[in-house]
Amino acid sequence: MSTTGVVTRHEVFQTSLMSALLDGVYEDEMTIGELLGHGGFGIGTFNALDGELLVLGGVAYQLRGDGTVTRAALDERTPYSVVTNFVPHIHAEFPADVTRTQASVFIDTLLPSQNYMYALRITGEFSSVRTRTVVKQEKPYRPMVEATDDDEIREVDDVRGTIVGFRTPLYEQGISVPGCHVHFIDDDRTRGGHVLDFELRHGEVELCLGTDLQLRLPLTSDFQSADLSPEDLQRQLDKTESHA
Ligand SMILES: [Zn+2]
Repeated sequence: MSTTGVVTRHEVFQTSLMSALLDGVYEDEMTIGELLGHGGFGIGTFNALDGELLVLGGVAYQLRGDGTVTRAALDERTPYSVVTNFVPHIHAEFPADVTRTQASVFIDTLLPSQNYMYALRITGEFSSVRTRTVVKQEKPYRPMVEATDDDEIREVDDVRGTIVGFRTPLYEQGISVPGCHVHFIDDDRTRGGHVLDFELRHGEVELCLGTDLQLRLPLTSDFQSADLSPEDLQRQLDKTESHA
């Protein structure tokens, strides 16, 4: 057995499962205050899908469907979130004018291995960012493939901001979102959402390698009766996360 020098142990904390969210488990007891105790950097959503969650510098932002961005109250709750304490050991400057696909290929060249989790932060000047924001749902909750039909989609041009999220290995399909799942917030903290696409004029990427996943499962009856292994899991992920 040998270990590589680039890798040091680092924990990623996650509450609930992506497959539970897809099945309409949109409520849990986990508070934002408790979540922040597990990490000051990450992404997720709020109970009833009341907006996208972005955690940066220990502050939780609520990016709502009506376009508003506010600081989330510590007693608000989240049905699904992933956070870590961001300690970037890898960083690089992007080539000028990269698309999301090109940025993704560039990031892959920086990884010591595809088999770990990575928290990632991109900061820079974007020529465009296309985001979606989930819209607050009413009970009885519909599955996420239907709920995301209500998404507010926006594009902002010429904006400085930060992309926050995770690159997750394919073997975590269902636990999390395989590939890059990232949210955006602008420097003024007034606009943002779940990233569908972007073009980056110039900027840098920082990566924090995660070796340990702490998974916290809800104790609710909705979670207990959820179907967490649907046959069309990949199709549901494509539709809800990429609008594919
Ligand atoms: Zn998202």
